[in-house]
Amino acid sequence: MTSYIFAPKPPVGLPIVGSSKLFPARRVYCIGRNYAAHAREMGGNPDREPPFFFMKPGDGVQVVPNGKLARHPYPPGTSDYHHELELVAALRKGGRDIPESGALAHVYGYAVGLDMTRRDRQGEAKKLQRPWEIGKSGDKSAIVGPLTLAAKAGGILAAELELTVNGAVRQKASTADMIWSLAEQIAILSQYFTLAPGDLIMTGTPEGVNAVIKGDVMEGRIGELQPIRVRVD
Ligand code: MN
Repeated sequence: MTSYIFAPKPPVGLPIVGSSKLFPARRVYCIGRNYAAHAREMGGNPDREPPFFFMKPGDGVQVVPNGKLARHPYPPGTSDYHHELELVAALRKGGRDIPESGALAHVYGYAVGLDMTRRDRQGEAKKLQRPWEIGKSGDKSAIVGPLTLAAKAGGILAAELELTVNGAVRQKASTADMIWSLAEQIAILSQYFTLAPGDLIMTGTPEGVNAVIKGDVMEGRIGELQPIRVRVD
């Protein structure tokens, strides 16, 4: 039997609505600028840009337990820390070169997520043509709520997303407004990476991204998925 020099950390486990089992998170793939109005607010042109992706580490997932207020630590090294409300798809099956037509069969379930971003540091990285990790891939930067099984989340790809901060609406749109559909995202990602069970895909944020400060309470909901409530501490 292999023996490790220290005990490897188990994966982050996402709660599943209606089950006591956990979904083991692997990688977190994220798409950029996937809603036209958000692409414009970030200085891009949604008509011309091919999709692009980045990643967050699998152990950078912060779980929001069912119905509970989660506490999210304000990270060091930023004074412009942004929320991005996103639909998260969790894969039960992986593969390479997955055809778009069969892609959604790879999805185990869906959750409400927040792609938390050090926008000031991301902006510097863009200007200097450097990678985005400091801006995007911080500890706990992928906040994810409980998973709802895909079979019980009918209509989620044309559902309303809404994020409030301290009760005021900051982001409101429909998942139907994605530029690149979830099926297209899975198909394109699988041309570059071998996808695997446990992978999460953060499917992009609509317009209205903005900063939070300590003490703010974010509430995110997407269709009938379990909503999330997160206080920035
Ligand atoms: Mn995002």
